[in-house]
Amino acid sequence: MGKPTGFKEFDREVGPYRDIAERLLDYNEIYTDHHEGHLTTQGARCMDCGVPFCQSVNGCPVYNLIPEWNDLVYKGQWKEALDRLHKTNNFPEFTGRVCPAPCEGACVLGINEPAVTIKNIENAIIDKGFEEGWVKANPPTFRSGKKIAIVGSGPAGLAAAAQLNQTGHEVTVYERDDRIGGLLMYGIPNMKLGKDVVERRVNLLKAEGVNFVVNADVGSAGPNGIDVNKLLDETDALLLATGATTPRDLKIPNRELEGIHFAMDFLRANTKSLLDSNLENGNFISAKGKNVIVIGGGDTGTDCIGTSLRHGCKSLVNFEIMAKPPVTRAENNPWPLWPTIYRVDYGHEEAACKFDTDPRVYSISGKEFVTDENGKLLGINTVEVDQSFKEVPGTIQFWEADLILLSMGFLGPEHYVSDPLVLKLDPRSNYKAEYGTFLTSHEKVFAAGDCRRGQSLVVRAIDEGRKVAEQIESFLRR
Ligand SMILES: Cc1cc2nc3c(=O)[nH]c(=O)nc-3n(C[C@H](O)[C@H](O)[C@H](O)COP(=O)(O)OP(=O)(O)OC[C@H]3O[C@@H](n4cnc5c(N)ncnc54)[C@H](O)[C@@H]3O)c2cc1C
Ligand code: SF4
Repeated sequence: MGKPTGFKEFDREVGPYRDIAERLLDYNEIYTDHHEGHLTTQGARCMDCGVPFCQSVNGCPVYNLIPEWNDLVYKGQWKEALDRLHKTNNFPEFTGRVCPAPCEGACVLGINEPAVTIKNIENAIIDKGFEEGWVKANPPTFRSGKKIAIVGSGPAGLAAAAQLNQTGHEVTVYERDDRIGGLLMYGIPNMKLGKDVVERRVNLLKAEGVNFVVNADVGSAGPNGIDVNKLLDETDALLLATGATTPRDLKIPNRELEGIHFAMDFLRANTKSLLDSNLENGNFISAKGKNVIVIGGGDTGTDCIGTSLRHGCKSLVNFEIMAKPPVTRAENNPWPLWPTIYRVDYGHEEAACKFDTDPRVYSISGKEFVTDENGKLLGINTVEVDQSFKEVPGTIQFWEADLILLSMGFLGPEHYVSDPLVLKLDPRSNYKAEYGTFLTSHEKVFAAGDCRRGQSLVVRAIDEGRKVAEQIESFLRR
């Protein structure tokens, strides 16, 4: 602990985002540069608790050694801090940018003071590591001769690939999309996670010897299809890390109208067009000049808001079926649990800046999409709901919209890759595999990340990728 009185002397100060009006004009990352002096002060706020809850089960899912690197940052020992960070997290440049930071919710200082800015410090350590050239490819010196196929290149697949390659196995990652990264590439938009940041890490993995095959749709009978049973025969272990890609639909009248899209169709097309042509090829769903309604909150809803604003939408509303959360922890939500409180994310503050009001409307549910006599989308009728989602009589309201984005979560993985393997599913239609063993009902097939646990977080996918790698390692030694 560098400064025993740091937490008494210094206030929490989070690194600011870029000016809102300025950042709305581009798709560059929203973050500002790190300031070392500021971060060492923030690192000094860490109390080096006897029991650091930030790295406990309620805190960081990869058990980052947070008090250790806070102390090293305070002392200016950035290289050592980077080494500690990489011990537990393969991709801190992803989590440092997009993690909601459950560690901060569990920080002991958070009991009666604002928590340490753990996520900012993590991001600064890895960014400095890249700037200084400390992060280098480190190929293994030994090859085991064992082959592992990983289906899906999101954070779970990439973390497993990194770990298994390090122990000398020949790892090939198959991705049905045209770029590697899963939702890091085609879900989370550029302004939250630059695609150069994703590609930089993928290039390091390539230099370390991981093989990547894109446009490879494992289990599909389509033109890019790969026979999954043949793949299984040719490898010593198969890992499914295919994500939870089935979107939840809103099955109300007139759902088939043009202008109603799943959030992921909107976000994916935007990022692809941006990367392929700087949006010049027009292969995306434009919100320009439109009245946009985003149905559903969470990160996906916020990303739809941020993207619609950058297109130049005319108006923007965001429906949330839940009630507005409290500003501070409720009695049934004590420390060190994740605080379910009212938060203003980047998209919300951008919408408030553009339209002078927060876009969120709470306790509201869609009743029917509204059309004119020519089948053109006019908007949506909604109804207010109470805490148990029962409709409140007399609250039907019409909202005008030309573009409606459905962001209501995901219902688990697709099954065209698991069906030919005759895998068992859990009651939520995920591939059935226990956390810890990650083994599916097939003796040679493992599953990790969102396809096993349902839609979650990047840091949890990294955790599962690392842990399934350990299990595959011991399976191969049997
Ligand atoms: C819009 C959006 C924003 C998000 N924002 C955040 C955030 O800010 N912070 C956060 O922590 N989490 C966020 N999340 C959640 C996070 O992205 C996921 O929890 C995480 O990416 C899951 O990782 P994964 O590796 O399990 O799967 P994914 O990242 O979903 O990757 C799975 C990959 O498998 C590929 N695939 C599927 N089937 C096949 C097949 N048969 N053959 C070949 N390839 C296949 C898919 O194309 C995909 O690339 C967000 C999610 C979304 C949708
Ligand atoms: S990965 Fe997430 S939970 Fe872990 S230390 Fe970083 S911000 Fe906190």
